[in-house]
Amino acid sequence: MPTALYPGTFDPITYGHIDIAVRAAKIFRKVIAVVAVNASKNPIFTPEERVEMAREALKDIPEIEVVSYSGLIVDYVRERSASAIVRGLRAVSDFDYEFQMAFTNRNMLASAETVFFMPSAEYTYLNSTLVRQLAEHGGDISGFVPEFVKKKLLEKMKLCG
Ligand code: ADP
Repeated sequence: MPTALYPGTFDPITYGHIDIAVRAAKIFRKVIAVVAVNASKNPIFTPEERVEMAREALKDIPEIEVVSYSGLIVDYVRERSASAIVRGLRAVSDFDYEFQMAFTNRNMLASAETVFFMPSAEYTYLNSTLVRQLAEHGGDISGFVPEFVKKKLLEKMKLCG
C-alpha cells in the first residue's frame, strides 16, 4: 500500500500517537504525519515546536515524514497523491467525531479513505490534553511522552505560568 497521511494536532506528540504511527508504517510504504497549523484546539506549542517534537519522536521509523499544513486535509491528500488518511481510535467516545470527519472528507474527495488503527491497551485513555493537565499540576508524565517532550512541556509550563 502506498502513501497515507496521519493528520493531528500533536500538542504534544505522545506515546499514543507514536503507537499509531508505528502500526501505520507497517502497512503503508510511506506515512506522512501532518501537523495541523490552524488547529481549532488552541495548541500551546507552535506548529514548528510540534513538528520538531514529532520528528524527533518518529526519527527511527524510516517510512515516516513529518510536515505541517494549514489547509484542508483533502487538499493535501491530492497534493501528495495519498491513498488514505490514518486516524487512531481509542474508545467509543472517539467514534462519533471520527465518523463525521471521515464522511466529510469523503464527501469532499471521493477517494479519501480513512483507515483506523487501535493503539495498545495501555494508551487507550491517553491524550495530549491529559498530558498537559498532568504536567501543569506536577504529575509524572514519564509513561506518556518521550523524555525530550516532557522537558519541553515543563519548560513551556514555566514560561506560561
Ligand atoms: P486531532 O486534534 O485531529 O484529534 P490529535 O493530535 O489529538 O489530533 O490526534 C491525532 C490522531 O491521533 C487522532 O486520530 C487521535 O485519535 C489519535 N490519537 C491520539 N492519542 C491517541 C492514543 N492515545 N491512542 C490512539 N490514537 C491516538
